Amino acid sequence: RAKAQNRGASQYFSPEMGVDARERFKLLKGLRASFEERRLFVVYQPQVELATQRVIGAEALLRWRTAEGQFVPPDQFIPLAEQSGLIVPIGEFVLRTACHQVRQLRDAGFDDFRIAVNISLAQFRHPAFIDTVRRALADAEVPGSALELEITESMAMEEVSAVLRVLAEIRGTGASVAIDDFGTGFSSLSQLRRLDVERLKIDRAFVREAQSSAAGATIAQMVVNLGCSLGMRVVAEGIETEEQRQHLLALGCHEGQGWLFARPMPAEDLERWLAAPKPWEQGDGATAAPAS
Ligand code: C2E
Ligand code: MG
Ligand code: MG
Ligand code: MG
Repeated sequence: RAKAQNRGASQYFSPEMGVDARERFKLLKGLRASFEERRLFVVYQPQVELATQRVIGAEALLRWRTAEGQFVPPDQFIPLAEQSGLIVPIGEFVLRTACHQVRQLRDAGFDDFRIAVNISLAQFRHPAFIDTVRRALADAEVPGSALELEITESMAMEEVSAVLRVLAEIRGTGASVAIDDFGTGFSSLSQLRRLDVERLKIDRAFVREAQSSAAGATIAQMVVNLGCSLGMRVVAEGIETEEQRQHLLALGCHEGQGWLFARPMPAEDLERWLAAPKPWEQGDGATAAPAS
């Protein structure tokens, strides 16, 4: 997939989108209208500590349901929003929504709950970015530690002084940082070492391949070792089976998210899901339930 190979500018015009310029323009018009009409919303996917299966937080993921009731996948509309600059106000909406959600959960007694929000390059580079983060936290009355910002590997590999400056500003808010989709870009190890970030998220593609091929397993092991040796927590994306959970745990991976634990869910369901006994907590509690 083009996404896995290149997260840079060329993905905006990747043939995988299967839409020509006119269709893209129509889609963008629809996206803008939907944003104004509040048809964009945020869902949450729980993140779990692999060894204990304790829930530690959730990732906020944007959803678009059109006026006709159709869902457009983020992989289609996020690139359009990025290309047009619309991602800046949309990203602010996600940030504010996530902060309010974290406030509600903390009020409901989920004290250390943290929500991770995906940040696009245009937001990361925007001069008002840190103010936006600060205001979102302050308006929701949550500490920075309740928020994690996910930047992609390719964003982390942008010009080093600019990246270090924004990361330092983020640190000033108390928020943590995760490098998303790790393994899909071309990281400079010396640059990675200079970035003081909390988490490294192994891309779903490697989580899948860790099971199916020796080369995949080697790459997954290398990413885990790299993260560990740099003092980062390593998170596996897209864990779908108990077998994968155990394999990643054996590789030394700390945390995970994926359909095995929970699919992304609307805010209304999240609090109920968190309060309810988990499938893997039933019975003797020693084993996880298989994905259903
Ligand atoms: P991501 O940040 O890497 O998010 C993980 C994606 O993996 C999500 O896709 C999630 O639904 C999916 N996923 C999680 N567990 C599993 C699993 O077990 N199996 C499979 N097959 N998939 C799983 P989603 O929601 O379609 O989002 C796709 C991408 O769109 C995200 O990848 C992220 O790059 C982008 N995105 C989503 N929301 C936002 C947002 O608010 N802002 C920005 N800038 N990008 C966003
Ligand atoms: Mg992410
Ligand atoms: Mg990811
Ligand atoms: Mg991904």
